[in-house]
Amino acid sequence: MRHVDPAIMIDMIEQRASKSERESYEQHLTDCRRCAAEYDSWWTFLSGLCPSSLTDAPTKLINECIAIYRKPEPLPSRFQRASLLFDSFLQPLAVAGLRGTPAESRQVVLHTQVFDVHVKVSGKESDRRIMAQLLPLQPDTIVDGAQIQLHIPGCPAQVTRSNELGQFTFSGVPNGPLSFFIELSSSGSIVQFSVQGG
Ligand SMILES: [Zn+2]
Repeated sequence: MRHVDPAIMIDMIEQRASKSERESYEQHLTDCRRCAAEYDSWWTFLSGLCPSSLTDAPTKLINECIAIYRKPEPLPSRFQRASLLFDSFLQPLAVAGLRGTPAESRQVVLHTQVFDVHVKVSGKESDRRIMAQLLPLQPDTIVDGAQIQLHIPGCPAQVTRSNELGQFTFSGVPNGPLSFFIELSSSGSIVQFSVQGG
């Protein structure tokens, strides 16, 4: 089963998706627990980011949410979202890189309640290498052996595990937005985040 791309979920949440697009994905969101959880996390995340748009259309958003979840379930508390702390693509240096020497790699730092994630993406567009590290916020958090899934729309998911330093790598990564699911083996916490425009 093909899952719904996070970019499409965001379009649906921000009311940019067409009616036919919306209908075709809503059926999947009803049937697929994983996409439903991801959609819910985006919804929570985006409504947290945009309180002004919430006051514009709260009833519509809430009704939409109820319509999608015929059996509403709270998100498991172990499911967490990440926030972006730094992205070298969004820095002036990256713009300078576009004009002259191409930027060698992209560096992204994300923050969660459990750990920070440093992600470095390098290589050609269609054959990228990702090197990343989980940096725990508490010294007793174990980042060894976390299961990391990497999803790119239209491609089979890649799965790996972190080493004792929380480091992990993916190679031969095709073009497309990167969606990560990270599950800590010790606590079972699941963190999901996406790197767009990669
Ligand atoms: Zn799905």
